[in-house]
Amino acid sequence: LVSRKVKSDDTVLDIDGVKIGGGQPPIIVAGPCSIESEEQMEQTAAFLAGKGIKILRGGAYKPRTSPYGFQGMGVDGLIIGNRVAKEHGMLFITEVMDTRDVEIVAEYADLLQVGARNMHNFALLREVGRARRPVLLKRGLSATIEEWLYAAEYILSEGNSEVILCERGIRTFEKWTRNTLDLSAVALAKQETHLPVIVDVTHAAGRRDLLIPLAKAALAVGADGIHVEVHPSPATALSDNEQQLDFAGYEQFASALSGMLKVP
Ligand code: PEP
Ligand code: MN
Repeated sequence: LVSRKVKSDDTVLDIDGVKIGGGQPPIIVAGPCSIESEEQMEQTAAFLAGKGIKILRGGAYKPRTSPYGFQGMGVDGLIIGNRVAKEHGMLFITEVMDTRDVEIVAEYADLLQVGARNMHNFALLREVGRARRPVLLKRGLSATIEEWLYAAEYILSEGNSEVILCERGIRTFEKWTRNTLDLSAVALAKQETHLPVIVDVTHAAGRRDLLIPLAKAALAVGADGIHVEVHPSPATALSDNEQQLDFAGYEQFASALSGMLKVP
């Protein structure tokens, strides 16, 4: 179902008027790694909405390496993310990690995110396939392109055809970046499937200084959008503080890409 052999034209998602894929201007998904407080989300959404961003991200359920790390605010975070996004006329996307949470997350979020660590969670893929929300599917840390596309197939095969593929870097021997951004996967996914493909530069790089060149490269190979983490105060963020952009950093990022992005 994901293949161009089955459907030759690009799938264009229209989520409350926000169009993704099929040669539409690239979109930006931006927001903090984790939802930490109402104030943090309010500041971020006000800033990003002012920059023309239509999709606000923020994790309420966090897949942390250590069980003792900040795990996210859960339902309280969903409530904040939903309210703040609506106030600023934005869509809200957040990760769902557990089949038992799909219903509640779908109630508060406009898009569901399946994270890299859950790309192989077939029960979760089937469950989001039955949800009436578009799904952003991250590529697994060590997933082949074929495995990633079959993961998308799980979602489509349950009746949900609104899937956005997201390349977010894979694990290699390289240590100077957190992951290795695989741009071949972006070009191949665009060629082999009709689905929109976006690139998460933040988790791919794991460091702020590479976000601009990686985003330029992603758009050059045909990505339909960029996913980037933005936080009012990255140094004090409860997760991913090496790589989130502050507001000034985001302004530089957006202006470096402005010719390619068509957002103010
Ligand atoms: C995230 O986007 O919040 C996240 C945890 O990313 P990934 O699943 O790509 O590691
Ligand atoms: Mn993060």
